[in-house]
Amino acid sequence: MIDTLYIISSICFIFALNGLASAETALRGNICGIVGIVMAFAATIISMDISNICNILLAVTIGGAIGIFVARGVLMTALPQLIAGFHSLVGLSAVLIAFSVYYPTSEVFLNHGSIELMEIGLGSAIGAITFSGSVIAFLKLHGLYKGSNINPALNTFLAFSLISSLMYFVITENHGAFVLMNILSFIIGATLLIPIGGADMPVMVSLLNSCSGWAASGIGFTLQNDLLIITGALVGASGAILSYVMCKGMNRSLINIITEQKALESTSAQTQGSIKQGAPEDAAFILKNAKSVIIVPGYGMATSHAQHALKEMSDMLKKKGISVKYAIHPVAGRMPGHMNVLLAEAGVLYDDVFELKEINQEFSSSDVAYVVGANDVTNPSAKKDPSSPIYGMPILEVEKAKVVLFVKRSMATGYSGIDNELFYAPNTIMLLGDAKKMTESIVKTL
Ligand code: NDP
Repeated sequence: MIDTLYIISSICFIFALNGLASAETALRGNICGIVGIVMAFAATIISMDISNICNILLAVTIGGAIGIFVARGVLMTALPQLIAGFHSLVGLSAVLIAFSVYYPTSEVFLNHGSIELMEIGLGSAIGAITFSGSVIAFLKLHGLYKGSNINPALNTFLAFSLISSLMYFVITENHGAFVLMNILSFIIGATLLIPIGGADMPVMVSLLNSCSGWAASGIGFTLQNDLLIITGALVGASGAILSYVMCKGMNRSLINIITEQKALESTSAQTQGSIKQGAPEDAAFILKNAKSVIIVPGYGMATSHAQHALKEMSDMLKKKGISVKYAIHPVAGRMPGHMNVLLAEAGVLYDDVFELKEINQEFSSSDVAYVVGANDVTNPSAKKDPSSPIYGMPILEVEKAKVVLFVKRSMATGYSGIDNELFYAPNTIMLLGDAKKMTESIVKTL
């Protein structure tokens, strides 16, 4: 019965992933995931010794209450750091399980074979890397830590030491090697994430997601729990595929991302010049006289919840016969798919939303690029300045539109901390203000 429930749960998780692959089926995917986890939980409870059930229920009640409290309070804009926080817990639990298996209280786990030692070692090493890497990712995404450059030779040395201590542990079952291996893994997780620059954080977050899955899968082998093996492998593989897709979208290889030192601010000179500032009335005039408008949303749209006002504005423009499209950069916002989720929430049609590769060539023939709370994803220094932390990232070429309307509150930089020369370009008009309020004022004028 337990095996059957585990198999049904695994199938539910596969359908959950399949459903989450598109916004139209995401709700169905979530429901499949919830059904799967409830069944997995029920099977685990059934399989337990009755004396342990109280402990488990107590832990689930405390953990569940904290989860509900955190999830209810979190802002949509803080979701990426929440996810990084959750990954860190998966990593930490893998380490704790490995320790409890390796230092057992029951005799079941005594006399480990070398395959078991390899499973324990790999599971805890990947878990420790996931934990400390995710903590650094959390601090960076929350704006509490900027990072600093680290000599890549240090990571090579640490990786070599980790592999050596892991092999020594598997061959000799030496306690000291096990502890050393875990300490090295915690350090590597941190030193990998500390030098990562702004543009590369999304790839690393999805890589940590993948690592958390492999850690769970490794521990599944140790505990001989089929469901944990399958679920871990699903998370690990889907995270790895997402990392690959994002690397491709960003024109980067994983090795480049890990070895390049991009955490420090650009050494390039700050752009000088004067800006042209406009009012909502100017923007409304320009928009209603355009034939084609491309809206480029970014992180600022998410913080100001401007998506509904944007939808209203684009509906009004469409009614006047103006073509309106949305251009989405793969790393716009603070998590993969951030903009797509918000636009879908506001009822923007999927057919109006285009990815970078599909729409970039259309900027040169469009009248207006309405850049709303986006900055790094439009910054030409990604093409021109090798010292820029976002160098090599493909950008939305908004500057090719006849007029660029830039909506943001100030001249402040985006996530990567670098100035954007487009603010001073002759065809740019800065609309300084909150994205939602500014768009609502434009709607009012229209
Ligand atoms: P940016 O962070 O580059 O820029 C956002 C801009 O929005 C800021 O310049 C800010 O300027 C403006 N803004 C903030 N709040 C408001 C508001 N209420 N109203 C109007 N404007 C506002 O965002 P992008 O989306 O262009 O780029 C994403 C960046 O985040 C990239 O560097 C990416 O690598 C990084 N990143 C992405 C992740 C992902 O998975 N998508 C994960 C981690 C990092 P001002 O303060 O002047 O208003």
